[in-house]
Amino acid sequence: MTTLGMCINGVAVSGTDTFAVNNPSTGETAGYAPNATLSDLDNAVAAAHEAFKSWSLKSDEELASYCGQVTEKIGEHAEELATLLTAEQGKPLNGLGSRWEMGGSQAWAEYTTGLSLPMKVLQDNNEGKVELFRKPIGVVGSITPWNFPVMIAIWHIMPALRTGNTVVIKPSPLTPLATLRLVEIMNEVLPAGVVNIVTSDDSGDNIGAAMSAHPDIRKIIFTGSCATGKKVAASAVETVKRMTLEMSGNDAAIVLPDVDAKAIAEGLFWGGFINNGQTCACMKRLYVHEDVYDDVCSALVDFARNIPVGDGMSEDSILGPVQNKMQFEKVARLVEASKTKGRVLLGGTPGEGLFFPPTIIADLENGDPLVDEEQFGPVLPIIKYSNIEDVIVAANDNPTGLGGSVWSSDIEAAKKIGARMECGSVWINKHGAIQPNAPFGGVKSSGIGVEFGEEGLAEYTDIQVMFS
Ligand code: NAD
Repeated sequence: MTTLGMCINGVAVSGTDTFAVNNPSTGETAGYAPNATLSDLDNAVAAAHEAFKSWSLKSDEELASYCGQVTEKIGEHAEELATLLTAEQGKPLNGLGSRWEMGGSQAWAEYTTGLSLPMKVLQDNNEGKVELFRKPIGVVGSITPWNFPVMIAIWHIMPALRTGNTVVIKPSPLTPLATLRLVEIMNEVLPAGVVNIVTSDDSGDNIGAAMSAHPDIRKIIFTGSCATGKKVAASAVETVKRMTLEMSGNDAAIVLPDVDAKAIAEGLFWGGFINNGQTCACMKRLYVHEDVYDDVCSALVDFARNIPVGDGMSEDSILGPVQNKMQFEKVARLVEASKTKGRVLLGGTPGEGLFFPPTIIADLENGDPLVDEEQFGPVLPIIKYSNIEDVIVAANDNPTGLGGSVWSSDIEAAKKIGARMECGSVWINKHGAIQPNAPFGGVKSSGIGVEFGEEGLAEYTDIQVMFS
């Protein structure tokens, strides 16, 4: 049974007690993680604060070299981390599961290693020279969710390190194991105190809340729900922390009348069901024009009914269970509430344990709970529309604004509609594709700031302008 220590100042710390982490596929214990106290958090922040003094003075080349070594370590341990991830998260090893997440983690780490934010000369003339420098901020506090625990940890840690910051990370209590091991591995190549980890079951001291209020944490990078993100923002304001908040989404997809239903069915399915729908920027509301409505519904159902669902550890599974009971109950509630009005085209009945089959429900509309709320699970509502202006209003009629998509054989027409969607990313004929060179973030309630690319890297820096 895996019992991993927290890594604080390069040393394994077991904490005064541990908590069990559930394997959602089997209901058995996947391993144990330490329950940090506020004093463990203070120690981790103090270690990161001390390490910052020398880490922040390293040259750009030295920082890139360390990040390169971390990337290599991730590659060497990919299979071990994928197995831990499947045990605690439930996602299959195969398909767009743990091995895929590890591939993404490595790709992001490598790309971020290659980025740089060199000094910019703003002016150099008789009146003097003006130079803009990007300086590290200090200790970065990273708070991560349970849906893509390793990849999101990489998204938080790598740009922080690359720009000369040090880190204290706190993973979700539901999925701390792979992140504990990831940080342990990173510490094989990094100086002590540069990356520290604390874990907690959130039942006693709320370590996340203490991080957002901590005076020696200078930036918070948070990925999680809107409700928690707002609390983080409120308490981080007191110490004027820099903040990047990546929060919930309720992405709309608009299918135009000129599509070939069979040709887009696979893309629609994975747009909505990647990671069992437990993905921030996956399709959560599907609006289909009346001319192709029946064809799209049946093509999507035909594709979805053949997806193997099972224990994540089985090499045959392509989708796994819902990650936790609270999420499972939310999905079940939203599906039940849809049954009086909607037509269940596929699934709809909870399975054993935390398994919920891919579920597709047609004939819903805005105002229905499954359309208005973020389901964050394997169920997709389909809404029929007849007028393009009305559907744009319906798609934008949500407090969130993370992603959106338009599906059409006329790319230019689709782009014009996409430009009117209120969201940070718009995809044409796909949904949810992200890449390390393209900034990603939400508008409206979905967040503040972006990750990835130079724009994302810049969020780990303060600007200093020097006049000479
Ligand atoms: P959550 O908000 O419940 O938890 C996220 C993290 O916050 C966990 O580590 C948790 O322990 C911690 N936390 C709990 N209370 C806290 C507090 N008071 N202060 C600070 N931290 C606290 O989210 P979740 O259920 O783990 O994740 C699912 C949500 O995350 C979904 O809504 C999803 O859309 C969102 N998400 C967004 C993105 C994005 O990039 N926008 C990516 C992935 C997930």
